[in-house]
Amino acid sequence: MLNRQGRPSSAGQAGATNAHPTFTGNKALAQIEPLLFEIGRYNTTGVDIDEPEAFTPRLGGLERKEAIGLPGLSEPETMRHFVRLSQQNYGIDTGLFPLGSCTMKHNARLNERMARLPGFSDVHPLQPVSTVQGALELMNELAHYLMTLTGTKAVSLSPKAGAHGELCGMMAIKAAIEARGEGKTRNVVLVPDSAHGTNPATAALIGFVVKPVPAREDGWVHVEDVKERLGPDVAAIMLTNPNTCGLFEPQVVEIAKAIHDAGGYFYCDGANFNAIVGKAKPGDLGVDAMHINLHKTFSTPHGGGGPGSGPVVLSERLAPYAPVPFVRMKDGGFELVEQTNQAGGPAAPFGRMTAFHGQMGMYVRALSYMLSHGSDGMKQASEDAVLNANYIRAGLSDLMSLPFGDKPCMHEVLFDDAWLKDTGVTTLDVAKAMIDEGYHPMTMYFPLVVHGAMLIEPTESESKSSLDLFIAALRDLAMAAKNGDTERFTGAPYHAPRRRLDETRAARNPVLKWTKPGPVAEAAE
Ligand SMILES: *Cc1c(COP(=O)(O)O)cnc(C)c1O
Repeated sequence: MLNRQGRPSSAGQAGATNAHPTFTGNKALAQIEPLLFEIGRYNTTGVDIDEPEAFTPRLGGLERKEAIGLPGLSEPETMRHFVRLSQQNYGIDTGLFPLGSCTMKHNARLNERMARLPGFSDVHPLQPVSTVQGALELMNELAHYLMTLTGTKAVSLSPKAGAHGELCGMMAIKAAIEARGEGKTRNVVLVPDSAHGTNPATAALIGFVVKPVPAREDGWVHVEDVKERLGPDVAAIMLTNPNTCGLFEPQVVEIAKAIHDAGGYFYCDGANFNAIVGKAKPGDLGVDAMHINLHKTFSTPHGGGGPGSGPVVLSERLAPYAPVPFVRMKDGGFELVEQTNQAGGPAAPFGRMTAFHGQMGMYVRALSYMLSHGSDGMKQASEDAVLNANYIRAGLSDLMSLPFGDKPCMHEVLFDDAWLKDTGVTTLDVAKAMIDEGYHPMTMYFPLVVHGAMLIEPTESESKSSLDLFIAALRDLAMAAKNGDTERFTGAPYHAPRRRLDETRAARNPVLKWTKPGPVAEAAE
């Protein structure tokens, strides 16, 4: 299974393509695909629209005088273009996607079917609420389960991503502090070094001063380190639990008590909730606000950048500051509370996060996941996610180095690059060699507290045989690195549609716009 036939034996850039070049440049079923602008023609279109009858435009002389200059393709050419591009992609439906902290779990097809029911997919946000009672009931039920699973008192469904949920939760904290009359004095937010970059960015965006808390050598945040930094200027701590080292913070309750005693709030980054659903309730641990990435824990698709959904749950203390709109029961039906001054509305909300109520399609999928799993199934999913990560840890710990000793992890396992010392191979090289083996790389160089971090999260979706093959592939790579087969790494990926990119150049000098080649270039082609 693990043979590497077809891998070029020559060094460096002499990859499979160059070793056996094809006339077309295609690699068997992996077809190269130029940009639409390169293959399109200006006299072709896939649609057939009648010429408009003569009319007098009413644009006051602003009407377009020249052709718009968009390239056209026939319908079959268009299909091939996008299907070929899609085949160069890697997704959870292609293979194991061990991107730590991202929880790339299977998106059950049942959820997709539910989201496409016309009663959900065809409603419009501006419809009268009397015509969308079922949709509001679904939102209310989802909110109920999110509060039940987290042990909290309120939830705002509208944020459109985890980071947006962070912003929502921190804005609620800010509103609560302002309502106490401490808006000017409480302006510091503590953020551990191991936090996701979005945490300090969120706090800074709304005017807080960010102060770091170190993570100790054991990978945990210690309550003494938090206490040392507490004072009347501290508004909140933003803590991730389980943390980004894949460890449950054992002092979380003491940390929550310390921040509360000092008059601050406990924001929990809930991106790693998948490890504890049905096992522990963040509200019981003292959390005041936590975002939930529906695309992580509740299996909605991560999508190509959207549509996302990151509801944020709030404690009783923060509930009055939840943004509008939210769903409430009224006269045996449901209403959407839209205005801050509406009778019985929130006391002092900070406003709204989005134009409407949020991502309906994601609510349907998340609730479908919850109802199809049941409370026992969700607990089992968390247990399996943790078991799978520990299975990988145990399968690799003799070859790859664990920065925090051999203690069990939660739903993801963190390795550092000490095992690569003197091999000439880096974390990045290992990631590229994984692409050749048909795997999406793990999360690399995050969290920052560990040198050359490799964060692997298999999720509960993977079977034992899938984990066994993954472990065997990584063992094979680890042994190759230790045995001096550096070429397998430094030239990788050999088999991907694109070879290794100059990432520094791409970051420093991004070419984001296609420019039409001049006549000289065209003639030269
Ligand atoms: C994914 C993630 C986020 C941000 O969530 P998005 O939905 O991508 O905005 C924040 N913190 C942690 C720890 C994460 O893993």
